[in-house]
Amino acid sequence: MPLPDSTGRRLLGRLREYMAGGGTAQERLDRTVRLIAEETSSDVCSCYVMRAGEVLELFATQGLSQDAVHVTRLRVGEGLVGEIAARARPLNAPNAWDHPGFVYRPETGEDVYASLMGVPMIRGGQVIGVLAVQNRDRRPYKDIEIEALETVAMVLSELLAGTELISRDELAPVAGNAVLPFRMEGLCLNPGAALGTAVYHRPKVHIERLICEDPDAELARLREALQALRRSIDDLIHSHIDLSGDYREILEAYRMFADDAGWVSRISDAIRSGLTAEAAVRRVDDDMKVRLSQANDPYIRERLHDLEDLANRLLLHLTGHGPTSAQGQLPEDAVLICRSLGPAELLDYPRGTVRGVLMEEGAPTMHAVIVARALDIPVIGRLAGAFSRIAPFDALALDADNAQVFVRPSDDVREIFLHSVATRQARKQAYLAERDLPFETRDGEAVTVMMNAGLLMDMSHLDDTGAMGVGLYRTELPFMTRPSLPDVPTQTLLYQKILDQAGDRPVVFRTLDVGGDKLLPYWSNDGEDNPAMGWRSIRITMDRPAVLRSQLRALLRASAGRELRVMFPMIADVAEFDQARRLVDAEVARELSRAGDLPSEIWVGTMLEVPALLYQFPALLRAADFVSVGSNDLLQFLFATDRGNPRVSSRYDVLSVPVLRMLRDVREQCDAAGKPVTICGEMAGRPLEAMALIGLGYRRLSMAAQGIGPVKQMLRSMDSRTVTTYVQALIDRSAAHPRRALASFARDHAITIS
Ligand code: PEP
Ligand code: MG
Repeated sequence: MPLPDSTGRRLLGRLREYMAGGGTAQERLDRTVRLIAEETSSDVCSCYVMRAGEVLELFATQGLSQDAVHVTRLRVGEGLVGEIAARARPLNAPNAWDHPGFVYRPETGEDVYASLMGVPMIRGGQVIGVLAVQNRDRRPYKDIEIEALETVAMVLSELLAGTELISRDELAPVAGNAVLPFRMEGLCLNPGAALGTAVYHRPKVHIERLICEDPDAELARLREALQALRRSIDDLIHSHIDLSGDYREILEAYRMFADDAGWVSRISDAIRSGLTAEAAVRRVDDDMKVRLSQANDPYIRERLHDLEDLANRLLLHLTGHGPTSAQGQLPEDAVLICRSLGPAELLDYPRGTVRGVLMEEGAPTMHAVIVARALDIPVIGRLAGAFSRIAPFDALALDADNAQVFVRPSDDVREIFLHSVATRQARKQAYLAERDLPFETRDGEAVTVMMNAGLLMDMSHLDDTGAMGVGLYRTELPFMTRPSLPDVPTQTLLYQKILDQAGDRPVVFRTLDVGGDKLLPYWSNDGEDNPAMGWRSIRITMDRPAVLRSQLRALLRASAGRELRVMFPMIADVAEFDQARRLVDAEVARELSRAGDLPSEIWVGTMLEVPALLYQFPALLRAADFVSVGSNDLLQFLFATDRGNPRVSSRYDVLSVPVLRMLRDVREQCDAAGKPVTICGEMAGRPLEAMALIGLGYRRLSMAAQGIGPVKQMLRSMDSRTVTTYVQALIDRSAAHPRRALASFARDHAITIS
């Protein structure tokens, strides 16, 4: 059924007439499948519609037995039609009977048809049905035929959406009783608590015209809308000039996607196949959503989210609605419900109106989450079914710390929530009030408490928290948000800004730590089976010394006239550290030869993340100027438990005797060698763990900004000598449950650990 463009357009035009014509919805659908069979020279055309319970029901057919209509039902995944729905992909079976997934349904009378080709009907990223054609002869369908049927299916999906074929309730099944309160669990992407009102983020833009008469005019409209889109993103960038450099970079990278040639040409092709510009954008977007749900690579998923966000903005320009008008009436305590969120979208809402975000998808590293963090908005992700279970204007209570949301909470739950939001607020105020008090224990032991950072915007927390410096600056985040490797001047500027913001407080820069879960757009890990133990971190930068050298060059230049502290991640062998240190020396020599200014002092340290280093410690301590214990990785390798796998990550406790013993040894050896040692893994920011670390003799801790207030309260309420004696005793008697014992100890000694 090759469909020349003109035939395709004629079919689309007639399709619209048929669906808009008189008669019941069923009669119109019957006429439509007849038309498609006729125009595509197929012996059969059938339309299956998704019903509640993931069942595909034959709704109309030309060619199969009419007795099968509303009788033949296939589960998603069952038979070829079920497979098309399950994979949301077209299927081309020249001989359907030989296909392993084929299921014969005698009532359809399909015995005489050999070949089958079907495409999913997709709307809003969800499969709502399947459109299939069949022929008597065995024949493979050509790509152009598949594409033609996809376009028809897209138009049919839109047309069906406005038709009461099945009740709306059934289309959006609600689990349980819709009016009862219930609780959903997801993944905490940004902590916090909030009470608010559900708002569906980005109501679907309604497309009036689907089929075009004049493709050239549509292409011109597309060009105009693209220009308007680019201008509006520029405006957005300028209107949020107060946001830091990293955020601007995210927006600028996003702006570049608006020029993505592949995206624009796919939309143009869809217009040439007979769709209006709006329908073409929707078709390309739907296709992308399906791909999105199948992509494993988190970076690709994020890029696709960016494109999806752009598609919606483009639709708003094409339909003449501004981005804010699309949000309609917004309550003042909005909790956005979305599948995902583009990097710019949070900023479309007036500041202060969004209390929280619930996403059906989402990952901690996604750009919108980084922005939410900067705006202090709690976010819960991976809430499967949020759209089907939460209705607009439902009251919601978000407890992002515990990754849960209460939908239509009872008065009791609301009461508890109001209390906990108020307590949080009060606690924040208390931390703020104590900001200028020294970090010291009750018995006057001074502790150096620093902050972990990874974005320029994090630097403002130095002042909010009173942190004494940055103990770990993760340099990889700016690399991850760019489409290509930043050059030396770009990096120099960034590091200068970081140092300027830190003022006279020290900053420890960690060189690029990518690979594992942190992927760069321009280096692939080639699908390693075990990326956490694969080509990552120092291993990559040793294999690409030019990258490490350019980073070191930028760090040296940015620190000219001031102190530079730099450390290398994932060192497993002293020889690696020596090699990396030689690169620092080489860069220093290079700068000297160019008569460049050098830092006033250079400290070169190492992370301790790989257990093998423990058995080379004396040599390491001779080579390194300082050590920073990356307990996140160190413990994942020590216990052989993937830190990102919730099934196992909490199986072993950091507060267990082997860990305490190991950390004590590390601290003792560093002290003996006169080398400063800091702990910068997550455990340092948890009051109970931090208390144990003080007991082990650590006096330098670096943690996420949120941990600083609670850790300071803990420090100021503890007596270092009694804690030390207690922790040593726990190790000596190989206590079975140090965590429990330490918590009781804290309670008995009025040490604030929450
Ligand atoms: C660590 O491994 O403890 C660490 C601080 O590094 P990251 O969390 O960035 O891997
Ligand atoms: Mg690490």
